[in-house]
Amino acid sequence: MADYHQMWKDLGMDVDNHDVLCNVLPGAIGDVFLSQENRPEKMDYFDFVLAEVHGVRPAELVDFREKGGKVFGTFCAYVPDEVIFAAGGIATGLCAGSQFWVPGGEKYLPANTCPLIKAMLGARFDRTCPFYRLADVYIGETTCDGKKKAYEILGTDVPMHVMDLPQMKRDKDVKKWAEEIRELKALVEKETGNEVTPENLAENIKKINAKRSALKRLYDLRKEKNIPISGTDTLLISQIAYYDDPERFTQMVNTLCDELDQRVKDGVSVFPAGTKRILVTGTPMAIPNWKMHNLIETSGAAVVCEETCTGTRYFENNVDESGKTVDEMIDKIAERYMGINCACFTPNTGRFDDVVRLAKEYDVDGVIDVTLKFCQTYDIEGATLEKRLQEENIPVLRIETDYTDADAQQLKTRIEAFCEVIGE
Ligand code: SF4
Ligand code: SF4
Repeated sequence: MADYHQMWKDLGMDVDNHDVLCNVLPGAIGDVFLSQENRPEKMDYFDFVLAEVHGVRPAELVDFREKGGKVFGTFCAYVPDEVIFAAGGIATGLCAGSQFWVPGGEKYLPANTCPLIKAMLGARFDRTCPFYRLADVYIGETTCDGKKKAYEILGTDVPMHVMDLPQMKRDKDVKKWAEEIRELKALVEKETGNEVTPENLAENIKKINAKRSALKRLYDLRKEKNIPISGTDTLLISQIAYYDDPERFTQMVNTLCDELDQRVKDGVSVFPAGTKRILVTGTPMAIPNWKMHNLIETSGAAVVCEETCTGTRYFENNVDESGKTVDEMIDKIAERYMGINCACFTPNTGRFDDVVRLAKEYDVDGVIDVTLKFCQTYDIEGATLEKRLQEENIPVLRIETDYTDADAQQLKTRIEAFCEVIGE
């Protein structure tokens, strides 16, 4: 990474502690990504973004803020970027997928909180993530209990707006979510000083739809018999989707897909023929959490789809572009986002239907359901999902894990055993 120490100091970061994180990154990139064989050449852009993760994009955001722009930090796939970009703001993900931040979060939260939430607080209070320093306002949401309580603590240190996400999907809930989006619109208008108009909202609905369509194109290519890209590489792309510039990201994903189209024509696969095909479902895998994909794909299997918020939940279903007024467009946005199936909802049978549908579409040999430790909603739902998959004769392996490597060898053994018996 180029030298960004001055920028980090100016952002009030703990630069010495942050250096510890930066020093392990090149090794991790080499071990997880560069060690893979026959990678698509156009992964070079995503490798660059990763190598410069705390440099290039934060520098763009610093520049944007110096010119008066406002940055909004988000934590969940339900928060509609369209509205933020329409007001001339920038939305950036504040996901936290590293064990590095967990001990810092444990100073504020019970140890039996999910690692994602602990890492969120650690990244903020340890001052070791530029994105957490850069965001002018954090946008939270009432999803799981752990996040709700964590937002109260974050709110003591940074302006925090929490969207009240309904937990059911009746018509009145969709209407309520539309009201919450109207409140978000008012907030971003106040912060940025720019009005959301039918023109700029329509333009940004199209922009974010284009990003979703590019990701769908990428995922569709993984349905091929010859798999042109690894799951580990695709996961990285899904993670970068949360914070890269949307237009540039869309263009880069489409450029990569052009190369993958050619690979499909040429019958090129990154896996040997007969490699077992796996669908991963469960909790989100925030950057730099590549643990499960790395374990699965170094155990002789291929991840061909993720039913997660760093996967299909993020990009499936575009916003209907037929709205003419801002109100109509917000209703359409609410409808699209309420179509996401998160375990925070009850009932959440739509997710089980999605997993079964995707398992068939991607022709998988088995499903691996990954739950982060202490995530009650996904853990409880996992038993019902398992039953449903068994009824459909789809093999499933349930895994509960965290961000440490303590269980890596044991998990590898279980994954290898699972892959041996499936698809025969
Ligand atoms: S799993 Fe649920 S709470 Fe977490 S990012 Fe996805 S939608 Fe939001
Ligand atoms: S993984 Fe589960 S507990 Fe953790 S933030 Fe997401 S929904 Fe909440």
